[in-house]
Amino acid sequence: MSRIMKEAGSLKLTYKQRIFLWFVVMFAAFTTGIVIFEQSRERQDKTEALTSRLDVYADMVDAALRQHSGDRSTLDSLETLFPAGIRLTLIDRQGAVLYDNATPTIENHAARPEIVRALEQGTGTNIRTSASNSVEYLYYAKRFDDYFVRVSLPYDIRVRHLLKPGGLFLWYVMALFAVVLLLINYVAGRFGKSIGQLKDFTLAAQRDGADLPPFDFPDDELGEIGAKISESYSQLKGSRKKIALEREKLLQHVHSSEEGICFFSADRSVEFHNGLFMQYLNMLSDRAEGDPGALFSDPVFGKAVSFLDDVQRSDSYFETQAAGHGRCFALRVNVFEDGSFEVVVNDVTAQEKTRRLKQEMTGNIAHELRTPVTSIRGYLETVLEQEMARDRERLFLQKAYDQTLTLSELIRDMGLITKIEEAPHSFSLEAVPIRPLVESLVGEFEPQLRERGIVVENNVPDDVVVNGNRNLLCSVFRNLTDNVVRYAGENVTIRIGQYNEDGGFHYFSFSDNGIGIPDQHHLTRLFERFYRVNQGRTRDSGGSGLGLSIVRNAVAFHRGTIAAKNAAGGGLEFLFKLPKWQESQAVEGE
Ligand code: ADP
Repeated sequence: MSRIMKEAGSLKLTYKQRIFLWFVVMFAAFTTGIVIFEQSRERQDKTEALTSRLDVYADMVDAALRQHSGDRSTLDSLETLFPAGIRLTLIDRQGAVLYDNATPTIENHAARPEIVRALEQGTGTNIRTSASNSVEYLYYAKRFDDYFVRVSLPYDIRVRHLLKPGGLFLWYVMALFAVVLLLINYVAGRFGKSIGQLKDFTLAAQRDGADLPPFDFPDDELGEIGAKISESYSQLKGSRKKIALEREKLLQHVHSSEEGICFFSADRSVEFHNGLFMQYLNMLSDRAEGDPGALFSDPVFGKAVSFLDDVQRSDSYFETQAAGHGRCFALRVNVFEDGSFEVVVNDVTAQEKTRRLKQEMTGNIAHELRTPVTSIRGYLETVLEQEMARDRERLFLQKAYDQTLTLSELIRDMGLITKIEEAPHSFSLEAVPIRPLVESLVGEFEPQLRERGIVVENNVPDDVVVNGNRNLLCSVFRNLTDNVVRYAGENVTIRIGQYNEDGGFHYFSFSDNGIGIPDQHHLTRLFERFYRVNQGRTRDSGGSGLGLSIVRNAVAFHRGTIAAKNAAGGGLEFLFKLPKWQESQAVEGE
């Protein structure tokens, strides 16, 4: 309750008023104390002066009584010597009143305060209204050997005035008080002004934010403090603005990041996450969640969570992998100094696949190189170690030479695949008319074709022009033709045609009516690297196992697709599309 009142009070009063009030209260308490002390001293002094006079009267009474051997009638004549109105009382040690000039018969006075005090200390004073004659007296009693002499002055205006402390001091104090009030008012005003300016500054800071105009503080200590606060404040504002800007940039970056990112506070509440994080989270988790915090209860994130749970961990970084819905994700946890942390989820399916393919490729290459190299070594060893006829030796050397051709072919094909995959920008695009390209290829293959009785029907219209790389397109048709020569059998017809077109693509068919690949299982795997339908036999026939892989990569380089199927009249048919050369591209090219 008192707190509320205090708050209410402090809310209403300004700083200046409060300083003023406090000083006034303190000074008032101080001066009141001084005045009370001074007045009681003065009163004591005056009472002492008066009682010392009364003491003289009491001694006079005692002396008179002694002189007249205790004759009380002498007291009547003594009375005339004393100031008028004075009351004389003689009381014995038991309190019986022996004489009183004001009232004839009165009761026992043993209990009167002045008598009690006189009995104890020799003298006693008291101011009160008399029970005997109802007059207010200042009593003074003095103890003698046989009796008490009490001299009482009526406590009338005169005596009152006599005992009243002088008013001058009070006036002096009041004047001083007024002067001090003015001084306090001035000082409080000065303090209040500086404080008021500080207050104005903070209010303006709250209202206007960073766009605070420079503030004019007074030239004193408080002003200095104010100026320092103002300076720190504008620095703080500046830093805050910078931080907000940086934060904005960071958030934008996080939003557009290719990774799913979520920031958590130390108590694991979500601070910020991007859309991709939720997408990846739902791909990894079986339940569709809207809250990133769900990962803490999901077994898929078990390892990451136990890393976070481990209070003894020495590392602030943790990385693991998780799989879900046929995709592979890299999971990273980064713990910051304040205990907050980020969880980053990255879809590494493609990288994983490439890594696996590369691994396979390396294994395959070693395997593919082994066969020709082993046979070359075999032939050469035979020639070197055995005596043989000249023509037989020649035959062995010829076979070794043929194997070196296979090796060259393998190295060339591997180089081409790597180039398409890793440096696609090194292949420039141009307008490539397909019909003449096929015609020149047929010319190239003429001897083999004739030897095997293979006929080529080039049905591609003259105006079919592809926007592509000439060498890669040659490679496509060369590999397909080469395969027919190698695998389709003898007396086969190759049909090459453009069977369709749309706004962007020409659709081609490349078919033969040879032995084909009846097994559907082989058809789907045909484009894989080093995949051969009949491993032993086809390797012997000289293919690198990369031919169709090159074809698919070259078509894909042109944003096209390719598929293999069994042709209607037997044999194999490849269907693929390649981008059209547009007239507008010709203008651009120029
Ligand atoms: P390679 O470079 O060894 O010729 P490819 O990738 O070109 O390998 O071909 C893969 C496999 O597809 C070959 O081993 C062959 O068995 C089969 N094949 C390719 N073309 C034909 C075709 N026209 N007729 C029958 N089989 C084919």
